[in-house]
Order: sequence, then structure tokens, then C-alpha cells
Amino acid sequence: AAVIVAIDGPSGTGKSSTSKAVAAKLGLRYLDTGAQYRAITWWMLSNGVDVNDPAAVATAAAKPTIVSGTDPGSPAITVDGADAAGPIRTREVTAAVSAVSAVPEVRARLTELQRQIARAGRGIVVEGRDIGTTVLPDADLKIFLTASPEARAARRSGELKGKEATGLAATREALIKRDAADSGRKVSPLAKADDAHEVDTTELTLEQVVECVVTLVET
Ligand code: C5P
Repeated sequence: AAVIVAIDGPSGTGKSSTSKAVAAKLGLRYLDTGAQYRAITWWMLSNGVDVNDPAAVATAAAKPTIVSGTDPGSPAITVDGADAAGPIRTREVTAAVSAVSAVPEVRARLTELQRQIARAGRGIVVEGRDIGTTVLPDADLKIFLTASPEARAARRSGELKGKEATGLAATREALIKRDAADSGRKVSPLAKADDAHEVDTTELTLEQVVECVVTLVET
């Protein structure tokens, strides 16, 4: 049967790098659900939807067509046919994504899309915040990645280098703010499933985390 691996956790834990590497190593497909929340947010911002108005966001939630590629070697995403891979990583989108992803209509729509993709075709590694708890509670393996705030801020500012002018302190602030926004809302996505394997990546290299997850898939 097609194996389904759910990898959840906050940003800066090495979630995306780990998920892509595990998928590539095992010949599985890969889905970045954060990219989908960013894509719908980008569409809202580009189409004049007030992202702080949940009713407006709810009404618009069904409008954009989001297509996610599943090749871990070249993760692609389009919105209404337009390449969104670059625009979804801007500071504007990052600042607005928590508010948009808190709207139940947005979550329902993307959850449905994620389930369709996961169940169609070969096995898959799906990364996000609520994959093991809500999107794919019957996943074959669930991983929950954690890391110290310092390690997370350092990794995030490494990723952002060249894209945004951000110091370590500012990155740490922004992460803490987004964590709070992600977990303090009524529909909180970030949660560890009871049957998830928690992996603290603070003292581990990417290779070590990947090895750990691959071993768990194979046993
Ligand atoms: O993973 P990434 O940092 O790109 O996710 C961006 C945002 O999308 C998160 O901060 C969160 O607000 C939202 N998200 C979510 N549920 C997911 C994945 C992401 O609410 N499964």
C-alpha cells in the first residue's frame, strides 16, 4: 500500500528540508501544506481581499485554483495558473498567513485538497501543522519536530538570507509572534498527535534527522 508520512511542527525545526529529503530518499511524493496556506493568502492580498476580515476571507476562500506539484526535487505551486513559488515567500504573505489560515472555510478547503492529493497515487510525505491530527489522522507514520527557540531563529534567518534583510533578533521575534498567532486562535492548527514520534532537532544535523525519520518509516 502507498505509505503516508505526516511531518508536523513549527517553522525553523528543519521541517521542509527534512520532509523533502525523506521523500527523495524513499522515492515518495512530497506536499508542503504551508505553501498552500501561503498561496491562498497571496491570492487574497493580490485580489484586494481584507485579510483581517474573516467574513471576506471566508467568501473568497473557494475562488482561487491552487495546484501543488509533488516532486520533492522541485516543489512547485500555482494559483490560477500563475507560478506562486516566489511570491508566497515574501514578508507580506508571511505576515498575513496566520490570519487567513485561521478562517474555517480556508482550512476546510485546503484540508480537502490535501486529502485528495495524499490519497491519489504513490506514497507521500506531507508536512504542515495539523497533518497527523486533522488532515491525515490515519497516516502510517507521524513525526512531530521541535527545536529550541534559538536554533529555530538561526535556521529561519539562514533561510531568509538574501531575500529579506533580517537580523537574528528580528527573526526570533517574528517567529514567536507567528507561533502565538498560530496557537492562540480558536482553530489552532499546530498540535502533536498522541501517536506521533517527537524528534528534538536542536542538537541534530539535517542528515541525522533524515536518517532518524527514514529508519522509522522502514521499521
Ligand atoms: O510552513 P509554513 O511556515 O510555510 O506555514 C505558513 C503558515 O501557514 C503557518 O504559520 C500557519 O499559519 C499556516 N499553516 C497552517 N496549517 C498547516 C500549514 C501551515 O495553518 N498545515
